[in-house]
Amino acid sequence: MAWVKFFRKPGGNLGKSYQPGSMLSLAPTKGLLNEPGQNSCFLNSAVQVLWQLDIFRRSLRQLPGHFCLGESCIFCALKGIFSQFQHSRERALPSDNLRHALAETFKDEQRFQLGFMDDAAECFENILERIHLHIVPEETDACTSKSCITHQKFAMSLYEQSVCRSCGASSDPLPFTELVHYVSTTALCQQMLQRRDESFGELLQAASTIGDLRNCPSNCGQRIKIRRVLMNSPEIVTIGFVWDSDQSDLTEDVIRSLGPHLSLSALFYRVTDEHAKKGELLLVGMICYSSRHYCAFAFHTKSSKWVFFDDATVKEVRSQTPNPPLPSLMQIPNSVITKYCSIEV
Ligand SMILES: [Zn+2]
Ligand SMILES: [Zn+2]
Ligand SMILES: [Zn+2]
Repeated sequence: MAWVKFFRKPGGNLGKSYQPGSMLSLAPTKGLLNEPGQNSCFLNSAVQVLWQLDIFRRSLRQLPGHFCLGESCIFCALKGIFSQFQHSRERALPSDNLRHALAETFKDEQRFQLGFMDDAAECFENILERIHLHIVPEETDACTSKSCITHQKFAMSLYEQSVCRSCGASSDPLPFTELVHYVSTTALCQQMLQRRDESFGELLQAASTIGDLRNCPSNCGQRIKIRRVLMNSPEIVTIGFVWDSDQSDLTEDVIRSLGPHLSLSALFYRVTDEHAKKGELLLVGMICYSSRHYCAFAFHTKSSKWVFFDDATVKEVRSQTPNPPLPSLMQIPNSVITKYCSIEV
């Protein structure tokens, strides 16, 4: 799911504080074709969410150039679809060029191959990683390029550290970058039972740290919980839910736990960036999985409506809550990928 960050105006109602269409305008909506045997729904869902994220769409449009890989260039293929979304008169478009570029790029790893179903969250993450490589052609975990959409807009710069409450010893901080923050749904549901009054962000933090116990750095015998500290203020935050099975009976509980808002200070042990401290994210997109099939949802602030994308089919969905709304998800069982993205008003 994608969450957009909002900064609350003093005294303002969050739902009313953003200017309609300022950041998430009504991007033209079109379906993406998935012919029998193509199994492209995982890619189509990832592309729809990327297209609907104004921050991403506009940043991509403004990029002056990229290191092109010709036939297998994911960057060019994605730009091609985006330009078709904008200009084509068709109601549904083929995503074949991107499918081919993806298959060609990951040929050696035998991932995302033609005709085979794959994971939408990993596809989303890999498209972002490839975009980084098309802009800054080197593998780096600490990308500081101003024009790198991936790291400027999506990356969470974190460090983890364990601090012993008993003897005070602390481990060296270990910095890392995350494009998708994965949380186990089993852990989330356990936390929901134990922490009834906590916010969605707090539940996610508890779920992602529970069970991750380390030995005290000075070996005093204590087992301690890891602390994750966020050092930047990403505009788009993606939460990936990890399910134990294809047909989980936790689906309803997980859907019930979803909040339209997510605060970064709740999601991590500590947040150091001032913007991130104040920031509140709004749910703007989701990729869901059910019965070996992916579909996606995206939220339009301009119309305050959720739109549902199932390959060639695009339709508006009723909201579960009025302001800000959540889509009625009960119709879609199983896995939900969430993206919260940040909007500055
Ligand atoms: Zn290219
Ligand atoms: Zn980068
Ligand atoms: Zn200790």
